[in-house]
Amino acid sequence: MLKVDAVIIGAGIIGLSVAHEICSPGKDIVVIEQHSGPGKVISSRNSEVIHAGIYYPSGSLKATLCVEGSSMLYAFSRNHGIPARTTGKVIVAVTASEEKTLEELFVSGQANGVQGLALLDRAQLKRIEPHVEGKSALFSPGTGIIDTHALLKRIEALCLEKSCSIVYRTRLVALDPVSSGFVCTVSGPDGKRSSFISEVLINAAGLDSDQIASLAGIDIDKAGYRIYPIKGEYFRIRGSKHRLIQGLVYPCPAKSLTGLGIHVTKDLSGSVRLGPNAFPVKEHTYDVNPSHVDEFLAGTAGMLPFLSRDDLIPDMAGIRPKIHAPGEEVRDFVICHEQKRGLQGFINLIGIESPGLTSCLAIGRRVRQLMNQECPI
Ligand SMILES: Cc1cc2nc3c(=O)[nH]c(=O)nc-3n(C[C@H](O)[C@H](O)[C@H](O)COP(=O)(O)OP(=O)(O)OC[C@H]3O[C@@H](n4cnc5c(N)ncnc54)[C@H](O)[C@@H]3O)c2cc1C
Repeated sequence: MLKVDAVIIGAGIIGLSVAHEICSPGKDIVVIEQHSGPGKVISSRNSEVIHAGIYYPSGSLKATLCVEGSSMLYAFSRNHGIPARTTGKVIVAVTASEEKTLEELFVSGQANGVQGLALLDRAQLKRIEPHVEGKSALFSPGTGIIDTHALLKRIEALCLEKSCSIVYRTRLVALDPVSSGFVCTVSGPDGKRSSFISEVLINAAGLDSDQIASLAGIDIDKAGYRIYPIKGEYFRIRGSKHRLIQGLVYPCPAKSLTGLGIHVTKDLSGSVRLGPNAFPVKEHTYDVNPSHVDEFLAGTAGMLPFLSRDDLIPDMAGIRPKIHAPGEEVRDFVICHEQKRGLQGFINLIGIESPGLTSCLAIGRRVRQLMNQECPI
């Protein structure tokens, strides 16, 4: 049977970033992806924001990898010609209680090592975003936006240059842990099955990462690895009103942090989107329900009073791979070598929701360090 050094399940931004870090001459690294190209699931359906790392509990993987990942991503973009821009972002308080939340975010952002944060009064907010209403704001100068598709294509190209094999239209359907690694059975484009052995298996399967863990024999409920998909829809601002927004405008997040709240992002072409909302789904479908427009208007009315129903058109949707059920406490990323479960060489990346895009290069580096220490190939 064919033997490789490592297989990565999933060619989203996380799987490719890991591949980019661990590929080296003489190593057989294979990425298996069920779709026909890179990043066709979560990685191409998000806000494309390079987050600064404000919101996450100090010391968490989300905080650490977001702050590290943000500077890595800006540097990578500069070096590889990926369109990206530091736009700055305001988080806006429209009520007195939200002003308190802003102060807490200011403290947590500073504890996480976010540079340049500033609390703004209304006049200062108006200098940055003249048309946005609010009592005060938290300004994050280092937040920005990136062209995710260009990033995916560049990392894919770098992996291929380093002789990594990326096998598209091929799905992992069975896994059998054996003494020398994992027997991986895949179903190819023609539906034919074939098997190979990999010494290391890295699970970067996004919304299906719980199923991959399950194939390896992990009880995903006991382990806390079950994915609860939470859909987020976007609406686009049509007509000339998009010119009333300068950069990124976020509301004060709800304490539960199901998302960061319906926010406003301006992409690199200058068009402006509102979203995402957040609701649980069973099916992975990406339609946008036009009747949800009222939720978007209500969610942003305090900050963007100039918007009316006619200004918004349904745009796109994405699905977050959350590992806590709705209403439960927010969980950190899972980046875990599963040797304690008897799976030497099996690395799980589960619950890589936002800020996963921002953190991708730092996650890749973290996985390489983990492998060097615990399962060198
Ligand atoms: C609405 C939304 C907004 C977001 N906004 C931001 C943001 O602004 N900034 C930010 O930093 N992050 C953001 N994120 C988070 C970020 O997009 C994700 O963390 C990141 O894209 C996850 O990448 P991934 O590679 O883990 O998943 P994916 O891109 O989904 O890749 C996983 C891949 O695994 C493949 N796969 C699954 N099962 C198998 C199998 N059995 N065999 C073969 N292949 C398989 C899938 O086809 C898929 O391509 C957002 C997410 C959402 C949903």
